[in-house]
Amino acid sequence: MSASSQNYFATYAVNTTQSIGREFQEFSNTQRDAFQRDRDRIIHSNAFRRLMYKTQVFVNYEGDMYRTRLTHSLEVAQIGRSVARNLNLNEALTEAICLAHDLGHTPFGHAGQDALNTCMRDFGGFEHNLQSLRTVDVLEKRYAAFPGLNLMFETREGILKHCSKRNAKTLGKLGERFLLREQPCLEAQIADLSDAIAYNNHDVDDGLRAGLLNVKGLCETQLFAEKFDVVKTLYPELEGSLLHNEIIRRMINDLVLDLQNNSASNIRDENPKSVQDVRLAPKKMILMSTEMLLKHQELKKYLFNNFYKHSKVLEMNNHADKVITTLFNGYLNDLTLLPAEHKQYALNESDLSADNQKARAVADYIAGMTDRYAEQEYLSFIN
Ligand code: MG
Repeated sequence: MSASSQNYFATYAVNTTQSIGREFQEFSNTQRDAFQRDRDRIIHSNAFRRLMYKTQVFVNYEGDMYRTRLTHSLEVAQIGRSVARNLNLNEALTEAICLAHDLGHTPFGHAGQDALNTCMRDFGGFEHNLQSLRTVDVLEKRYAAFPGLNLMFETREGILKHCSKRNAKTLGKLGERFLLREQPCLEAQIADLSDAIAYNNHDVDDGLRAGLLNVKGLCETQLFAEKFDVVKTLYPELEGSLLHNEIIRRMINDLVLDLQNNSASNIRDENPKSVQDVRLAPKKMILMSTEMLLKHQELKKYLFNNFYKHSKVLEMNNHADKVITTLFNGYLNDLTLLPAEHKQYALNESDLSADNQKARAVADYIAGMTDRYAEQEYLSFIN
């Protein structure tokens, strides 16, 4: 991409020349620009490969057809890339953020994160978003010259979607925007919305596939019902997974087009000239129209009540809670069970108190586990 394709970027897109850059200076001898290298480093990381065996909603071993964190991340990246390209923004940066956004997720999805957060209550808490950043900054060990992946500032900025003020104060320049109420770059804003579009739609698909949701119920939501009518007019006989897919692809298309058009209009109104203008803008520019946002939120609420709170999903969540809590207490009681690198971290001097340091080492280890590895370790604790 480098110089020539950067000419296609808008002036308010992130590019390598106006980037805040990497923490550790690097010599580059490749044709790829810094953000393409970030994306490629993420793909080659250990944490990225492990996403294949981590829960999105269904525990990884429930079935081979459901989304995992890996396929979720790929779908997020697909949406992010097309929006970025259409708005003349930095596609490689958007893709890098999308691919990395869930690297810090625990096994067993949100139930796992909630359980680990409860375990870490007295030790600074656990938040998957912050853990994604910690994964790329510290936990990945692949390069001799620096810890982590040494990603560009804007990639790290996009990964850290939310942050409490307390945590932001410990993060230097990266935490500033949460304290100063500034906006992240537009590429980060795209990744955020792409995540929401991807999971709402693929959760409809997975919920239907599992038989936990049905078409009749989903037609209570406006977005689904509108697309159902369109598809049934075109193909009156269509049923089953083809019907589901024809509806879902149209919902994704509508959401993405609306996001692009509405964001383009926001950008025209705000008229930023640089990334700095984007950061200082009073509000985010990458947004759906109010009308589409309401439809999207309605669908999200429907999923919350009928899918995420479904007894079968809650049953998996209860199990996840038991596994994570057992592992956390087990390792904290006997740090010799940790692998060497985590054991070493647990006992190292640092800014944290000794107890917090030990708990953090345990949380890092557990957060990195796949569903099935956590399950295996759990069995060794209870047997
Ligand atoms: Mg996600």
